[in-house]
Amino acid sequence: MNVNFIDFSEQYQLIKDEIDVGLKQVFEKGDFILGARQREFEDTFAKYCQARYGVGVNSGTDALYLSLAALDVTVGDEVILPSYTFIATALCISYTGATPVFVDIEERSYNIDPVKLEAAITERTKAVILVHLYGQPANMDEINAICEKHQITVVEDAAQSHGAAYQGQRVGSLGDVACFSFYPTKSLGAFGDGGMIVTKDEELYNKVKMLRDYGRVNRYDHKIKGYNSRLDTVQAVVLSAKLKHLDQWNKMRADNAARYNELLAECPRVITPQVMNDRTHVYQTYAVRVPERNQVIEKLKEEGVSALIHYPIPVHLQQAYQDAGYKRGDLPLSEQISDEILSLPMYPHMTDEQIVYVSDTLKRIINEL
Ligand SMILES: *Cc1c(COP(=O)(O)O)cnc(C)c1O
Repeated sequence: MNVNFIDFSEQYQLIKDEIDVGLKQVFEKGDFILGARQREFEDTFAKYCQARYGVGVNSGTDALYLSLAALDVTVGDEVILPSYTFIATALCISYTGATPVFVDIEERSYNIDPVKLEAAITERTKAVILVHLYGQPANMDEINAICEKHQITVVEDAAQSHGAAYQGQRVGSLGDVACFSFYPTKSLGAFGDGGMIVTKDEELYNKVKMLRDYGRVNRYDHKIKGYNSRLDTVQAVVLSAKLKHLDQWNKMRADNAARYNELLAECPRVITPQVMNDRTHVYQTYAVRVPERNQVIEKLKEEGVSALIHYPIPVHLQQAYQDAGYKRGDLPLSEQISDEILSLPMYPHMTDEQIVYVSDTLKRIINEL
């Protein structure tokens, strides 16, 4: 049996007709950039996040970068982030000229550790970017309390957590500004690149709106030096069609995760995801920890199961961040978990047969180690 890491073919069948109709309208009307459907999607997605404003941009990375730029993060500032994340969380800080300050994570949630976050704050700290990793919200109460005390802006990297909730409140409305990615493999994925900045702050909203459109306030007046980073109307049509199904698809992911948990519970050497009791996990990624991870992933491949690693190298040890001066041993949990973590196939329309096959194969491989 072969199990792909992801397979969105059934999703596509469900939305195909709506997308065909929507795209035809865009093609006929020709409003490809900042068109009506694009603005409509910004509003719908912001509401979905229980926030006020949405600004569509061309990637999650740009959503992060433009948010920091709008907050005037610049050379000499420090921005705190977890090292155990996708590198884009750090790159956006580097683009501004500010210094990324990497901190370690909690062992259970894999999210930034608020105690270590507070210990890393200095006079220069301007913002914190927290990541709701794999689809589980970070520890917002503690993080917001610390940041309020030190007057630091809270940026949510929500690229992996569309629809997840913390104490009943959706990600995207938990900090000062939130950044989403619509990269095709995310839980809400476009048919290309895309991203969105979501906020309740009107001033910030107005600034990011200028920044993504050459810094202009109208066709001819450019108030600041902006960029060209907009979400296409074509992608907005695709995303609007998918958004209607997102809660259902998140539920299917959670059901699949529960099934994996149940089947893998028989094998105590596999550490399954732990969900804190005041939040929901949307399982953009279903990651377990296993012994001899590199060997296990190879053997899974031989048995037709495609697994991946998110992430084998924490950002503070990436060659690109050599100049930041970190060394192995600086962030022990991030380093340890990077060696053990394994992402199993996960998408809404997985069959029970597939989940059983992946789980049984993994258990057998581990028992034979
Ligand atoms: C995917 C991702 C990004 C970057 O999003 P892009 O749309 O690929 O630029 C940033 N942060 C995290 C945590 C991600 O998973």
